[in-house]
Amino acid sequence: MSNKNQERLSSAADAVFMRRAMELAAQAEAEGEVPVGAVVVHNGVIVGEGWNRSIGHHDATAHAEMMALRQAGQTLQNYRLVDTTLYVTLEPCPMCAGAIVHSRVGKVVFGAHDAKTGAAGSTMNLLSYEGVNHHVVFEGDVLASECRAQLQAFFKRRRAEKKAAKLAARQTSSDV
Ligand SMILES: [Zn+2]
Repeated sequence: MSNKNQERLSSAADAVFMRRAMELAAQAEAEGEVPVGAVVVHNGVIVGEGWNRSIGHHDATAHAEMMALRQAGQTLQNYRLVDTTLYVTLEPCPMCAGAIVHSRVGKVVFGAHDAKTGAAGSTMNLLSYEGVNHHVVFEGDVLASECRAQLQAFFKRRRAEKKAAKLAARQTSSDV
């Protein structure tokens, strides 16, 4: 098999796993959370899945990546997730990037960049930080436009809902 074929195969697999992460992001959205989803893959098999659950769990650490890492640790019965790839729809934040390094994840594949808190190059690069001995290979922009559209649609809808609620409140107060 030529390298070119391998590359094509690997990117087709990337798309499959990223689409699963997007399904999990939709699950987060259905629960009223910011839509971010993540999967951890080991030997071509999903061993951990997670979606953003911070609000529902009253837990600021319940990001999609953290949930997926926790489940992968249980599946593999190991806190070291060596030779795994983590797929996530949005560039990991500093907390998740730290957890990814601690978990010894081999590679991160993410969808949309996060200009505000992204820790895989956008604001800082904690995945391969000089002075930290474990470096995580990463690749962004995988199905980026679809991942970004999912987030943008969520925030657009939420803004519209807030506006409608404000309008309704004004209406009620003027009725009084
Ligand atoms: Zn995070």
